[in-house]
Amino acid sequence: MRVKRFFLILCAAFLLASSALAESVSESQGLDWQENDPWPFAIQYGDRSKHQVAITMDDCYEFEWVEKAWELITSYGGAMTIYPIGELLKEENLQPGDREMWQKIAASSSEIGTHTHHHRKMSKLREDNMLLYSKYPQQVTDQLLGYHYPLRTLRPPYGNYSEAYQKQLKIAGYHHVILWDIDTTDAGEVLSQVRNGSIILFHARKKDYTCLETVIPALAEQGYEMVTISVMLGLPPLEAQTELFDWRAFKKMVNQ
Ligand SMILES: [Zn+2]
Repeated sequence: MRVKRFFLILCAAFLLASSALAESVSESQGLDWQENDPWPFAIQYGDRSKHQVAITMDDCYEFEWVEKAWELITSYGGAMTIYPIGELLKEENLQPGDREMWQKIAASSSEIGTHTHHHRKMSKLREDNMLLYSKYPQQVTDQLLGYHYPLRTLRPPYGNYSEAYQKQLKIAGYHHVILWDIDTTDAGEVLSQVRNGSIILFHARKKDYTCLETVIPALAEQGYEMVTISVMLGLPPLEAQTELFDWRAFKKMVNQ
Protein backbone atom coordinates (compact mmCIF):
# COMPACT_ATOMS: atom_id res chain seq x y z
CA MET A 1 0.00 0.00 0.00
CA ARG A 2 2.82 2.35 0.90
CA VAL A 3 4.55 1.58 -2.41
CA LYS A 4 1.33 2.29 -4.27
CA ARG A 5 0.92 5.63 -2.52
CA PHE A 6 4.52 6.51 -3.32
CA PHE A 7 3.88 5.84 -7.01
CA LEU A 8 0.74 7.93 -6.91
CA ILE A 9 2.63 10.88 -5.43
CA LEU A 10 5.50 10.43 -7.88
CA CYS A 11 3.05 10.24 -10.73
CA ALA A 12 1.19 13.37 -9.67
CA ALA A 13 4.43 15.32 -9.32
CA PHE A 14 5.51 14.30 -12.79
CA LEU A 15 2.22 14.92 -14.41
CA LEU A 16 2.60 18.49 -13.25
CA ALA A 17 6.25 18.77 -14.23
CA SER A 18 5.78 17.30 -17.68
CA SER A 19 2.40 18.75 -18.57
CA ALA A 20 3.90 21.64 -20.54
CA LEU A 21 6.04 19.31 -22.64
CA ALA A 22 3.28 16.76 -23.04
CA GLU A 23 0.92 19.46 -24.25
CA SER A 24 3.28 20.48 -27.01
CA VAL A 25 3.31 16.98 -28.50
CA SER A 26 -0.11 15.70 -27.47
CA GLU A 27 -1.90 16.49 -30.69
CA SER A 28 0.24 14.38 -32.96
CA GLN A 29 1.17 11.74 -30.39
CA GLY A 30 -2.26 11.15 -28.89
CA LEU A 31 -1.32 11.80 -25.27
CA ASP A 32 -4.82 12.84 -24.24
CA TRP A 33 -5.17 9.61 -22.27
CA GLN A 34 -2.82 11.04 -19.61
CA GLU A 35 -5.48 13.34 -18.24
CA ASN A 36 -7.97 10.56 -17.51
CA ASP A 37 -5.63 7.72 -16.66
CA PRO A 38 -6.49 6.34 -13.20
CA TRP A 39 -3.20 4.43 -12.87
CA PRO A 40 0.19 5.57 -11.60
CA PHE A 41 2.83 5.81 -14.32
CA ALA A 42 4.89 2.90 -12.99
CA ILE A 43 2.85 -0.26 -12.64
CA GLN A 44 3.75 -3.25 -10.48
CA TYR A 45 0.40 -4.99 -10.62
CA GLY A 46 -3.09 -4.48 -11.94
CA ASP A 47 -6.55 -4.54 -10.37
CA ARG A 48 -6.55 -6.83 -7.32
CA SER A 49 -10.31 -7.28 -7.65
CA LYS A 50 -10.15 -8.82 -11.12
CA HIS A 51 -9.39 -12.51 -11.56
CA GLN A 52 -6.75 -11.88 -14.22
CA VAL A 53 -2.98 -12.00 -14.60
CA ALA A 54 -0.50 -10.62 -17.12
CA ILE A 55 2.25 -12.93 -18.32
CA THR A 56 5.16 -10.90 -19.69
CA MET A 57 8.34 -12.00 -21.46
CA ASP A 58 11.50 -9.89 -21.77
CA ASP A 59 14.70 -9.68 -23.82
CA CYS A 60 14.03 -12.19 -26.63
CA TYR A 61 17.65 -13.17 -27.34
CA GLU A 62 16.30 -16.68 -28.00
CA PHE A 63 13.22 -16.00 -30.05
CA GLU A 64 12.18 -19.66 -30.27
CA TRP A 65 11.03 -19.50 -26.63
CA VAL A 66 8.82 -16.50 -27.34
CA GLU A 67 7.27 -18.44 -30.17
CA LYS A 68 6.64 -21.50 -28.01
CA ALA A 69 5.27 -19.49 -25.09
CA TRP A 70 2.94 -17.57 -27.41
CA GLU A 71 1.67 -20.81 -28.96
CA LEU A 72 1.09 -22.33 -25.53
CA ILE A 73 -0.77 -19.38 -24.03
CA THR A 74 -2.81 -18.93 -27.21
CA SER A 75 -3.86 -22.59 -27.05
CA TYR A 76 -5.33 -21.86 -23.60
CA GLY A 77 -7.24 -18.83 -24.91
CA GLY A 78 -4.86 -16.42 -23.19
CA ALA A 79 -2.64 -13.55 -24.32
CA MET A 80 0.79 -12.29 -23.25
CA THR A 81 2.87 -9.13 -23.50
CA ILE A 82 6.35 -9.33 -24.98
CA TYR A 83 9.11 -6.80 -24.27
CA PRO A 84 11.89 -7.39 -26.82
CA ILE A 85 15.18 -5.49 -26.92
CA GLY A 86 14.84 -3.17 -29.93
CA GLU A 87 18.22 -4.05 -31.38
CA LEU A 88 17.21 -7.71 -31.76
CA LEU A 89 14.38 -6.74 -34.11
CA LYS A 90 16.70 -5.13 -36.64
CA GLU A 91 16.88 -6.77 -40.05
CA GLU A 92 20.46 -8.03 -39.57
CA ASN A 93 19.57 -9.79 -36.32
CA LEU A 94 16.56 -11.70 -37.63
CA GLN A 95 16.57 -15.38 -38.54
CA PRO A 96 14.49 -16.69 -41.46
CA GLY A 97 10.85 -16.81 -40.41
CA ASP A 98 11.22 -14.43 -37.44
CA ARG A 99 9.55 -11.51 -39.18
CA GLU A 100 6.51 -13.59 -40.12
CA MET A 101 6.26 -14.87 -36.55
CA TRP A 102 6.41 -11.35 -35.10
CA GLN A 103 3.73 -10.28 -37.57
CA LYS A 104 1.58 -13.20 -36.44
CA ILE A 105 2.04 -12.25 -32.77
CA ALA A 106 1.31 -8.56 -33.49
CA ALA A 107 -1.92 -9.51 -35.26
CA SER A 108 -3.02 -11.80 -32.41
CA SER A 109 -4.60 -10.87 -29.08
CA SER A 110 -1.10 -10.75 -27.52
CA GLU A 111 0.87 -7.52 -27.47
CA ILE A 112 4.36 -6.20 -28.11
CA GLY A 113 5.94 -3.47 -26.00
CA THR A 114 9.61 -2.54 -25.70
CA HIS A 115 12.52 -3.29 -23.40
CA THR A 116 14.46 -0.28 -24.87
CA HIS A 117 16.93 -0.46 -27.73
CA HIS A 118 19.91 -1.85 -25.83
CA HIS A 119 19.87 -3.35 -22.38
CA ARG A 120 21.25 -0.44 -20.37
CA LYS A 121 20.50 1.07 -17.00
CA MET A 122 18.38 3.90 -18.32
CA SER A 123 18.67 6.17 -15.27
CA LYS A 124 22.44 6.39 -15.84
CA LEU A 125 22.09 7.86 -19.34
CA ARG A 126 21.93 11.44 -20.52
CA GLU A 127 18.36 12.63 -21.07
CA ASP A 128 18.67 12.76 -24.86
CA ASN A 129 19.86 9.15 -24.87
CA MET A 130 17.04 8.11 -22.54
CA LEU A 131 14.64 9.40 -25.16
CA LEU A 132 16.56 7.94 -28.10
CA TYR A 133 16.92 4.41 -26.70
CA SER A 134 13.30 4.33 -25.52
CA LYS A 135 11.71 5.71 -28.66
CA TYR A 136 13.97 4.36 -31.42
CA PRO A 137 12.54 0.82 -30.94
CA GLN A 138 9.31 2.22 -32.39
CA GLN A 139 11.04 2.73 -35.74
CA VAL A 140 12.62 -0.74 -35.62
CA THR A 141 9.31 -2.37 -34.69
CA ASP A 142 7.46 -0.62 -37.50
CA GLN A 143 10.11 -1.66 -40.01
CA LEU A 144 9.90 -5.22 -38.75
CA LEU A 145 6.12 -5.42 -39.07
CA GLY A 146 5.71 -3.24 -42.16
CA TYR A 147 3.17 -0.90 -40.57
CA HIS A 148 2.92 1.44 -37.58
CA TYR A 149 2.28 -0.60 -34.44
CA PRO A 150 2.22 1.83 -31.48
CA LEU A 151 4.41 0.68 -28.58
CA ARG A 152 2.47 1.78 -25.54
CA THR A 153 4.25 0.32 -22.57
CA LEU A 154 7.92 -0.09 -21.76
CA ARG A 155 9.73 -2.42 -19.43
CA PRO A 156 12.96 -0.80 -18.30
CA PRO A 157 15.98 -3.14 -18.16
CA TYR A 158 16.60 -4.27 -14.55
CA GLY A 159 13.42 -2.42 -13.59
CA ASN A 160 15.72 0.61 -13.44
CA TYR A 161 14.12 4.00 -13.87
CA SER A 162 14.19 7.45 -12.34
CA GLU A 163 12.18 10.64 -12.20
CA ALA A 164 14.26 12.08 -15.06
CA TYR A 165 13.59 8.95 -17.09
CA GLN A 166 9.83 9.13 -16.47
CA LYS A 167 9.86 12.61 -17.91
CA GLN A 168 11.51 11.37 -21.10
CA LEU A 169 9.12 8.43 -21.36
CA LYS A 170 6.17 10.78 -21.24
CA ILE A 171 7.71 12.87 -24.00
CA ALA A 172 8.18 9.59 -25.92
CA GLY A 173 4.43 8.98 -25.53
CA TYR A 174 4.54 5.84 -23.38
CA HIS A 175 1.46 5.16 -21.32
CA HIS A 176 3.27 3.29 -18.56
CA VAL A 177 6.45 1.73 -17.26
CA ILE A 178 5.65 -1.88 -16.50
CA LEU A 179 7.34 -3.57 -13.55
CA TRP A 180 6.15 -6.82 -11.96
CA ASP A 181 5.11 -8.41 -8.69
CA ILE A 182 6.28 -11.97 -9.43
CA ASP A 183 9.78 -12.87 -10.61
CA THR A 184 10.65 -16.55 -10.39
CA THR A 185 10.94 -19.48 -12.79
CA ASP A 186 9.88 -21.95 -10.10
CA ALA A 187 6.35 -22.96 -11.10
CA GLY A 188 5.42 -23.80 -7.48
CA GLU A 189 6.51 -20.34 -6.34
CA VAL A 190 4.64 -18.62 -9.17
CA LEU A 191 1.46 -20.48 -8.27
CA SER A 192 1.79 -19.78 -4.54
CA GLN A 193 2.48 -16.06 -5.11
CA VAL A 194 -0.05 -15.37 -7.86
CA ARG A 195 -2.97 -13.09 -7.00
CA ASN A 196 -5.57 -11.15 -8.91
CA GLY A 197 -3.81 -8.51 -11.00
CA SER A 198 -0.36 -10.12 -10.82
CA ILE A 199 2.20 -9.18 -13.46
CA ILE A 200 4.57 -12.11 -13.88
CA LEU A 201 8.05 -11.55 -15.27
CA PHE A 202 9.58 -14.12 -17.61
CA HIS A 203 12.45 -14.08 -20.09
CA ALA A 204 12.70 -15.85 -23.42
CA ARG A 205 14.67 -18.84 -22.16
CA LYS A 206 14.18 -22.60 -21.94
CA LYS A 207 13.79 -22.63 -18.14
CA ASP A 208 11.11 -19.97 -18.29
CA TYR A 209 9.22 -21.90 -20.95
CA THR A 210 9.45 -25.06 -18.86
CA CYS A 211 7.94 -23.12 -15.96
CA LEU A 212 5.14 -21.82 -18.20
CA GLU A 213 4.30 -25.37 -19.27
CA THR A 214 3.13 -25.91 -15.68
CA VAL A 215 1.94 -22.40 -14.86
CA ILE A 216 -0.30 -21.68 -17.86
CA PRO A 217 -2.50 -24.80 -17.56
CA ALA A 218 -2.68 -24.29 -13.78
CA LEU A 219 -3.77 -20.64 -14.10
CA ALA A 220 -6.37 -21.66 -16.67
CA GLU A 221 -7.59 -24.37 -14.31
CA GLN A 222 -7.92 -21.78 -11.52
CA GLY A 223 -10.05 -19.64 -13.81
CA TYR A 224 -7.51 -16.83 -14.25
CA GLU A 225 -7.91 -14.78 -17.39
CA MET A 226 -4.46 -14.33 -18.97
CA VAL A 227 -4.52 -10.84 -20.47
CA THR A 228 -2.14 -8.30 -22.00
CA ILE A 229 -0.92 -5.33 -19.99
CA SER A 230 -3.11 -3.06 -22.15
CA VAL A 231 -6.22 -5.07 -21.33
CA MET A 232 -5.26 -5.23 -17.64
CA LEU A 233 -4.92 -1.44 -17.54
CA GLY A 234 -7.98 -0.81 -19.68
CA LEU A 235 -6.06 1.09 -22.36
CA PRO A 236 -7.98 1.93 -25.52
CA PRO A 237 -7.68 -0.61 -28.36
CA LEU A 238 -4.40 -0.46 -30.23
CA GLU A 239 -4.69 1.34 -33.56
CA ALA A 240 -2.27 0.24 -36.24
CA GLN A 241 -1.51 2.75 -39.00
CA THR A 242 0.13 2.52 -42.39
CA GLU A 243 2.65 5.35 -41.98
CA LEU A 244 5.81 4.07 -40.30
CA PHE A 245 7.26 5.96 -37.33
CA ASP A 246 10.31 8.05 -38.18
CA TRP A 247 12.68 8.78 -35.32
CA ARG A 248 14.30 11.79 -36.99
CA ALA A 249 10.98 13.47 -37.70
CA PHE A 250 9.88 12.78 -34.12
CA LYS A 251 13.09 14.20 -32.67
CA LYS A 252 12.68 17.34 -34.73
CA MET A 253 9.10 17.70 -33.52
CA VAL A 254 9.87 17.34 -29.81
CA ASN A 255 12.78 19.77 -30.08
CA GLN A 256 10.58 22.52 -31.47
ZN1 LIG B 1 15.99 -7.63 -19.62
